[in-house]
Amino acid sequence: MYSNILRHPGPTPIPKKVELAMAQDMISHRTEEFTKLYRETTERVKTIFGTKQNIMLLPSGGTAALEAAVANTASAGDEVVVVTIGAFGDYFVSICEKHGLHVHKLEKNWGEACTKEELANFLKPLSGIKSVFATYNETSTGILNPVDQLAEAVHENSDALFIVDGVSCIGGAPAEMDKWGIDILVTGSQKAIMLPPGLAFVAVSDRAWKVIEMNDTTVYYLNLLSYREWDAKSMTPNTPAISLIMGLSAVCDLIEEEGGFSKTVERHEVMKNMVREAMRALSIDLLTSDEHASPTLTTICAPKGLDLSDFLTHLKKKYHLDFAGGLGQLQGKVFRFGHMGYCFPSDILQAVSLIEAALQDFSYQFESGAGVKAAQDVFLSSLKK
Ligand SMILES: *Cc1c(COP(=O)(O)O)cnc(C)c1O
Repeated sequence: MYSNILRHPGPTPIPKKVELAMAQDMISHRTEEFTKLYRETTERVKTIFGTKQNIMLLPSGGTAALEAAVANTASAGDEVVVVTIGAFGDYFVSICEKHGLHVHKLEKNWGEACTKEELANFLKPLSGIKSVFATYNETSTGILNPVDQLAEAVHENSDALFIVDGVSCIGGAPAEMDKWGIDILVTGSQKAIMLPPGLAFVAVSDRAWKVIEMNDTTVYYLNLLSYREWDAKSMTPNTPAISLIMGLSAVCDLIEEEGGFSKTVERHEVMKNMVREAMRALSIDLLTSDEHASPTLTTICAPKGLDLSDFLTHLKKKYHLDFAGGLGQLQGKVFRFGHMGYCFPSDILQAVSLIEAALQDFSYQFESGAGVKAAQDVFLSSLKK
């Protein structure tokens, strides 16, 4: 069997070097070997968050990190604002509601970003807001919220913490947590970070630590104060995902080998533009405008006249190319092309070429090779810069 070409917005393919790093002999997490690995790796990973704060590693999916951010900073009855521009914003709302928080929802149409002005106007009449939550990269729509500007709106109009879900973009999108004024930034391992699922990352600002110290927190496993206590000893409160941390060290090597994190960010930008230009050349609509388009995934509308579900099944069966369908209200209307982490311009050329092959199988009218050429033009002109 051919292996699958996995182009989902998570989980994503794993580099061989990372797999090999994860295959090392197991070690105990209460040894010097581990503390050295933990300290070095968590120091190196700070660049992709843009922070000087220590990064805490939870042995869990991204959801646990979101829940940790909610449960450690607020208690039942507290008022919070959640900015929701799609399925993952709604997810943040449900986590907050489950914890008994009173949620003020700033909701946007799916496919749009939230602007600074909208958040500022939403916050102005409110008072006593404990935190504002937002998704950096909305994985259901392929929109990158301007979180730098949203942070300004929060700090200019409230004393709230600004808490950001960066799960599907940290590692592929620019992030300046400290400079932008993000108080808590979280992500997971299986999206832009090129690792299997099972490791979550949390970084906390000094302001947020003060709130966490005062909060009446009832969670045990996700207790960030206990993470901070153990982090001082370069350890975690309980058994960490040791193999994944070995893999994370190799991920940091790969980013360095690429020429540093800014090069990784540039590669994602090039891949985004390749996919967008290719779809335009094939007269296939994109859900989002260029302005807030995600660098890690592109949401693509069904090619006109085609049954999307048949098309995606055919792509997977005949060409082993695996895309994700739409979520929630976009189910059956769009598919999501993940281009994050271990993905290169050559992979985009391959995927676009296979999309063209499948379009021909469905007798879709287009100029053969137009998508590949458009993507290639973007790629070649990026090399000249
Ligand atoms: C995938 C995702 C999550 C959930 O992460 P899990 O690892 O599945 O728990 C949360 N937020 C966003 C934006 C995501 O893309």
